[in-house]
Amino acid sequence: MKELILVINAGSSSIKFQLFENAATDPAVLYKGQIDGIYVDPTFTAKDAADNKLASEKLPADKPKGHDTSLHHILDWLKDKTHGGKISAIGHRVVHGGTKFSEPVLITPEVIKELEALIPLAPLHEPHNIAPIKIMNDLLPGVPQVACFDTAFHTTQPELFQMFALPYEFAQKEGIRRYGFHGLSYAYIASVLPELDPKAAKGCTVVAHLGNGSSMAALKDCKCQATTMGFTAVEGLPMGTRTGTLDAGVILHCLNHLKMDAKQIEDLIYKQSGLLGMSGVSSDMRDLHAASPTNPRAKLAVDFFCHRVSREAASLAQAMEGFDALVFTAGIGENDNIARAEICKQLGWMGVKIDLEANDKRSGEPRKISTPDSKIPVWIIPTNEELMIARAAVKNLA
Ligand code: ADP
Repeated sequence: MKELILVINAGSSSIKFQLFENAATDPAVLYKGQIDGIYVDPTFTAKDAADNKLASEKLPADKPKGHDTSLHHILDWLKDKTHGGKISAIGHRVVHGGTKFSEPVLITPEVIKELEALIPLAPLHEPHNIAPIKIMNDLLPGVPQVACFDTAFHTTQPELFQMFALPYEFAQKEGIRRYGFHGLSYAYIASVLPELDPKAAKGCTVVAHLGNGSSMAALKDCKCQATTMGFTAVEGLPMGTRTGTLDAGVILHCLNHLKMDAKQIEDLIYKQSGLLGMSGVSSDMRDLHAASPTNPRAKLAVDFFCHRVSREAASLAQAMEGFDALVFTAGIGENDNIARAEICKQLGWMGVKIDLEANDKRSGEPRKISTPDSKIPVWIIPTNEELMIARAAVKNLA
C-alpha cells in the first residue's frame, strides 16, 4: 500500500496543506491547497501536482468556522484522492522551537506540553500550530506526527550573534535572544546548494528569503551564522505589513506619549506597517510596481525595501567575513525581477553583476542570473519548505 504524507502549515487565519507520496528517492507531491479566511469566511482551494485547479469553494456556512472544521474539510476532500494509499505520517510547521528543538521531533504528549510552554515566545503563531496537532491526533489516531521548526536552522548561530545588549541574566532568564525564523526555507536552500554551487556551499552564502514575510540569512558551510530576524518575526527587513527593525524608543513613545495600548502597537508594527504602511497602496510588490510610475509613495516603499535588503546583504557578508554567493528565494525573491535588479545594482560595488536578460526570464527552476565576470554568483532558487517537512515525516512513518 502506498505511504502518504500529509504536510500541514497552519496559521491564525489559514491552513495550507500538501499530500505527498513516499517515493523511492524523495517524497513526491500529489495535491496541495489551502483554506483561507478561517473564522471569517473559510474558502477552500486545491490543485494537483501540475498546478491544475481542482477545487475552489466556500465551506458550508452552517458549520463552525474554526480550524477544526477546516481540517475535517481537508481530510474529507483527500479521502477519494489517496489512490489506495493511506496517510502514514503527518508533518507540521511549527514556528518556535525555543532553545531545545534544533531538529524535527516526533510529537508525544510531553512534546505538546513543551510546545505549549513556548507560546509566550510566539503568541501570535504557536497556538495555531499546536491546535492542528491536537485535532489530527483525534482525527487520525495512531498516525505519527512530526513538528518541524522555523527556528531550528538558526541554532548554529555563534552565541555572540544570538545576543541582544540587554542585562545578561535578564536576557538568559527570559529567553530573550535572536532565534531567527524561515528556517525550513533556509534548510531547503542548504540542501540543494552543494549540487548547484559547491564553492558557495563550502563558503559564505547570503540567502534572501523575500516574501510577504521576509528575512535573510548568512550560511557558512551551509550552516546558519547570522540572520536578520530576531526574538520575533517582526525584526529585520520591512515586510508586507510588518515594520522590520524599529528603534525600540518608538514603542516607548507610542506607549508613553501617544498613549497607545499594547494591542494598538501590535497592530501598528505587525499589520499596518511595511510595504502597505509606507505606500498606502498594498502589501503586494506587484501592486506597488504597477502603482510606482504615478504614485511616489508606492515607489518609496519599493525603494526602501530594496535598500534594506542590499544593506543587510553587506552586513551578513561581514558576519561571515566572506561573500561567495547571493541566493534569492520566496515570492518576491523568485518572481520580482525589478526588485532583484535594484538590489543587485546596489551591491555592484561589492562585485555583484547580473545578466538583466537572465534576470527577466521566468522559470520555476533554480538558475544563475549573474554574469560570468560577476565576482559573486547570484542565484534564484525556488524554496520548498513543505518538502523539508515531508522528508522529516518520512523518517517517522507508521
Ligand atoms: P508568504 O510569506 O506568505 O509565504 P510568499 O513567499 O508566497 O509569501 O510571497 C508572497 C509575496 O510575493 C507577495 O505578497 C508579493 O509581494 C510577492 N510576489 C509574488 N509574485 C510576484 C511577482 N510576480 N512579482 C513581484 N512580486 C511577487
